[in-house]
Amino acid sequence: MNAVTIRHILDTIAEMFPDAHCELNHRNPFELTIAVLLSAQCTDETVNKVTVGLFDKYRTPQDYLNVPLEELENDIRRIGLFRNKAANIQKLCKLVIDKHDGEIPPNYEELVELPGVGRKTANVVMSNAFGVPAIAVDTHVERVSKRLGIAKADDSVLEVEKKLMRKVPRDEWTLTHHRLIFFGRYHCKAQNPKCDVCPILEHCKEGKSRMKAALKKRSVSS
Ligand code: SF4
Repeated sequence: MNAVTIRHILDTIAEMFPDAHCELNHRNPFELTIAVLLSAQCTDETVNKVTVGLFDKYRTPQDYLNVPLEELENDIRRIGLFRNKAANIQKLCKLVIDKHDGEIPPNYEELVELPGVGRKTANVVMSNAFGVPAIAVDTHVERVSKRLGIAKADDSVLEVEKKLMRKVPRDEWTLTHHRLIFFGRYHCKAQNPKCDVCPILEHCKEGKSRMKAALKKRSVSS
């Protein structure tokens, strides 16, 4: 895909979702880290419902360590993998206190050392909490990038991230991450993407083949 086409796609998606932003509610880097950790295999909407009460009860890393693990599990039990996530939250809080004076470290290498924090979470925290450009590749970003042909179908998450970083100007990484998420969440959905009204259909192989298949189905049934 050439640079002109990429530019056109980025501009079109920006026009469609001018207000794209992080949808996980948080007030500081620590809350954002906890929210992203909780969001693995779970919708932002569910995480936000849980964090309303959670962030009220637990304000500091020490607060999470002051309760038995079972109590924390119970407080997040509406979230998938809650046992695993509760254990990681307590380990993360301990490390943040022991090694970082109770603060989330503002650099990538130390972030990925925290239990439950992988590449995607670290990128989200770096970009949203500390203003460092980053493209976090979640399920929406991966799917959209592959459908559009920005990345190949069998590329790993890391390969998708690297391709996006090469093709998108650095000062647009963070916004592009949010816009691709909105585009994937509300338009190019996993099931039933809106190809028939998609303004970038002409650049999308997947969309074209879906439209062709839909036309064929219609002509067979009529
Ligand atoms: S044409 Fe369809 S598959 Fe392609 S980007 Fe648009 S909605 Fe997604």
